[in-house]
Amino acid sequence: MNIESKLPDVGTTIFTVMSRLAQEHNAINLSQGFPDFDVNPELIDLVAKYMRAGQNQYAPMQGVPALRQAIAEKTGALYGASVGPETEVTVTSGATEALHCAISAVVRPGDEVIIFEPAFDSYVPAVSLNHGIPVYITLTFPDYRIDWDQVHKALSPKTRLIILNSPHNPTGMILQPEDMTALARVVGDQKIFIIGDEVYEHIIFDNVVHESLLRYPDLSSKSFVISSFGKTYHTTGWKIGYCIAPEALSTEFRKVHQFLTFASNTPIQYAYAEIMQKKELYLNLASFYQQKRDQFQALLKPSRFKALPCRGTYFQMLDYSAITDEPNEIFARRLTTEFGVAAIPPSVFYHNQDDNHVLRFCFAKKDQTLKEAAEILCKI
Ligand code: PMP
Ligand code: GLN
Repeated sequence: MNIESKLPDVGTTIFTVMSRLAQEHNAINLSQGFPDFDVNPELIDLVAKYMRAGQNQYAPMQGVPALRQAIAEKTGALYGASVGPETEVTVTSGATEALHCAISAVVRPGDEVIIFEPAFDSYVPAVSLNHGIPVYITLTFPDYRIDWDQVHKALSPKTRLIILNSPHNPTGMILQPEDMTALARVVGDQKIFIIGDEVYEHIIFDNVVHESLLRYPDLSSKSFVISSFGKTYHTTGWKIGYCIAPEALSTEFRKVHQFLTFASNTPIQYAYAEIMQKKELYLNLASFYQQKRDQFQALLKPSRFKALPCRGTYFQMLDYSAITDEPNEIFARRLTTEFGVAAIPPSVFYHNQDDNHVLRFCFAKKDQTLKEAAEILCKI
């Protein structure tokens, strides 16, 4: 039976495509963003402990209270925001679910949603399923900054939502205090919601402070701030994230969440609540990944790839224009199949496939993996 697609422009996500290609060709996989090193054994023991203690049935719909409490405490300590764990924090099955819930909670047919490109690939399909209209703004190349005049011009009476992502996947860009000022000025007192995709909040380099929306009461009063434990604890496969939003927004968010997944994995939530007490684990993440960024960049110095600035996340953009003028999708494929290193072609994150002859490489890898990949890249 034929089916008229609700997402006619959507194929299989690039992360699945490139990871599969890497596997088929036995290539070093620096494409999809996930660590290749082990999870903290203490965290695994904690999950086992809670499983053995019988925490194996449905969690509360909003999330385990101890975890919501820990999230609220962390948010207060880091960003100075007073967040109510009962009414303003919701635990989800990954940030992807939280993004979907937040978008579904606010976007109505015909509403416009400002999306900065390159954009993480789950935003637009969620907008489209809700019959919203994406309004695209391109981050300036090669520094990937937001042109706020352009944002101002893009706003219309139909603008309902702005989706921000900092630290930014795939570019490693971070929002700066002047961006937050510009955002506040552009939005003013209009009824426009904001999503802050802050899943890399703890992976930010060179002693720069993460500009969470939660630091700005005027902005956080209209925002859904989303994070992911997968990035922070090297557990991308466990799929637990959360959303912080004012009570009225959280209420609508939860209406979607409760009928999308109802609740998220119970023993893992308890384990995260306990390990979050060891603050050094998330506070030291930045220096852990900064060392990897610096190592990867140093290893590539002799190569013909040119590293663009990376201020956060575990992704490094490399300009390959000194090697070839091939389109990035073709070069990414050839790099995997002929040379044995897989990367992501960022053109897939633009609605019109902008191609700046750069590729995205994930450096959340063992030192040895980075060394082996760099050896290959230096010969190209
Ligand atoms: N947003 C961004 C920018 C991401 O890089 C990711 C990682 N996949 C997500 C959201 C989704 O996070 P999760 O794996 O927790 O669903
Ligand atoms: N966030 C990861 C990345 O950007 C992967 C996400 C996914 O596979 N859905 O590579």
